[in-house]
Amino acid sequence: MTDLIIGIDLGTTNSAVGVVESGFPILLADEDGKRITPSVVWLGEAGGIEIGRNALRRRTLEPGRVITSIKRLMGRRFDEAPDFCAPILPTAGGGVSVLGRSPEEISSEILKELKRIAEWRLDTVIGKAVITVPAYFNDAQRAATKHAGELAGLEVVRILNEPTAAALAYGLDKLAEKSRVAVYDFGGGTFDLSILEMQGGVFQVLATHGDTRLGGDDLDTALVAMVAAKADVDLAAMSDSARVRLIEEAERVKRLLSSEDKAVFRAPFYDGSRSLEMEIERTEFEALLRPWIERTLRHCRQAMADAALTPADLNAIVLVGGSTRVPAVRKAVAELFGREPDLTQHPDEAIALGAAIQAGVMNGSLRQMVLLDVTPLSLGIETFGGLMNVLIPRNTTIPCKAGEMFTNAAAGQQSMRIRVLQGEREMARDNWELGNFEVGFEPLAKGQARVGVQFRIDENGILEVLARDVSTGIDKVVTIRNSAVDVDDAAVEAMVSESVEHAFDDMAERIFTEARLKAEELLPAVEVVLSQGLASDEERVEIEAASDAVRSALSSGSANPLKAAVQRLDHATEGLAARLVERAMEEALERRLAGD
Ligand code: ADP
Ligand code: MG
Repeated sequence: MTDLIIGIDLGTTNSAVGVVESGFPILLADEDGKRITPSVVWLGEAGGIEIGRNALRRRTLEPGRVITSIKRLMGRRFDEAPDFCAPILPTAGGGVSVLGRSPEEISSEILKELKRIAEWRLDTVIGKAVITVPAYFNDAQRAATKHAGELAGLEVVRILNEPTAAALAYGLDKLAEKSRVAVYDFGGGTFDLSILEMQGGVFQVLATHGDTRLGGDDLDTALVAMVAAKADVDLAAMSDSARVRLIEEAERVKRLLSSEDKAVFRAPFYDGSRSLEMEIERTEFEALLRPWIERTLRHCRQAMADAALTPADLNAIVLVGGSTRVPAVRKAVAELFGREPDLTQHPDEAIALGAAIQAGVMNGSLRQMVLLDVTPLSLGIETFGGLMNVLIPRNTTIPCKAGEMFTNAAAGQQSMRIRVLQGEREMARDNWELGNFEVGFEPLAKGQARVGVQFRIDENGILEVLARDVSTGIDKVVTIRNSAVDVDDAAVEAMVSESVEHAFDDMAERIFTEARLKAEELLPAVEVVLSQGLASDEERVEIEAASDAVRSALSSGSANPLKAAVQRLDHATEGLAARLVERAMEEALERRLAGD
């Protein structure tokens, strides 16, 4: 067995497997040259099993024994199980079983097939995998996916979020600092929109929104319903295999309409005796799928609102999932975001490719080309609230220097401890401390002291940290012994992967901490301002309501509501703050005039 790790997109409709070979991520094709395997399992009455296209072929003959979209049941209890293609039964533990098997077991059959394809292509035994899941999968769904991997004989070294995998595949990690991208994933059974931001060469997830029951399958069903209605055919009275025939034909027609203006829906003897034939125009189909596209757009708007962003704040849009091949979908997304989406990857292969890249990073087969003269990880110092404040981002070419001004957190404070940190995590405690020292300054009111901190890395990779009390001009220079540049590759990879893995939690904690600091500053200031009697009644009511909202969000401990409440309070006091400044200026002017 090799240490090679494969990357797997275990999709609702389709799955794929990839690996990094000679430094490049590739997908592995089966004996027929197909890089995509339908996530379909046929469970024969006598114990036989077929996977993928072979299983699909049996769907019209034995619709009840062909399992599709098993991902919908992963980690679900019986009482929360969605409609399904086959009868489901409760298990003793409250789980579900389909034809006597658990969803994990059925998924593991798909994973076994992908493992088999990889082993056949690579001619070696594979034991480890990275598997992707939708960003909003809960713990139970993630655990079930991991378990399915184990049942297939794979150690699941990472459960990776699909949008992060997609972003990796599109090479978005090469975008500039602070670039933001939206990943619009419209597959066969799930939809989600995620917004990621580049920080120090690493993705941070700003927001994600979606629906586990929204996908291309819905478009197929809608098309069948439309055709049936027009031909006056009663779908409810139809046998399962007849319905499957129509759905398969609908999918074929749908795909055709992605490139043609019209297509003929043709189902001869679909129920043994009757036939259907009907020409469908693309415009007609587009009108039909409008409500589903609208639903995806609503999730997009919600995600943008959660991240407090407008389309102009985004640097790229990428489309993944087979349903984004529908021109009307592309057009709607381009309109909503006001820019053309990035189409450089196959939308249905991007996630598996990204999983392969993550796998390659983890087993060391994908190395950054040039590590010698760039900072392998970000360098910064700890600031208020235990946050990491990056001064030199990861991948900055050396020699380099960067600085920032800091201030005192408390009145009368006489010194500040500078903790020099290395790493990609949002909270100081999760990064590595390279050293620390104390810098003294003149005691002043809170926020009045000025301490400049500068990092300087010379051509030998030696990091020097300079701290200066701006009021006295006194410098303190410390050379950091621990290397800022020569870091073990494996450690760098571990840090970067960790930051990707914790992106959601880290981001939430940073948003909360920043909002909390702001709230702690704002609340007492608002009290003072209100007591000066400059506020109108209307302003006072809104300011008090906003202050209450901030207090309750503070105690609830959740990040986005607190951020929103602080913004509301900030906004509510804007007019008042402006009047205060005006009044102060007038007073100063009067004093000056009086003094003259
Ligand atoms: P999932 O991530 O849900 O496993 P995929 O990303 O592979 O699925 O997307 C599968 C969906 O994409 C199916 O509903 C399929 O019909 C649809 N699809 C694939 N190609 C096209 C196309 N050319 N036009 C429209 N829909 C397509
Ligand atoms: Mg998918």
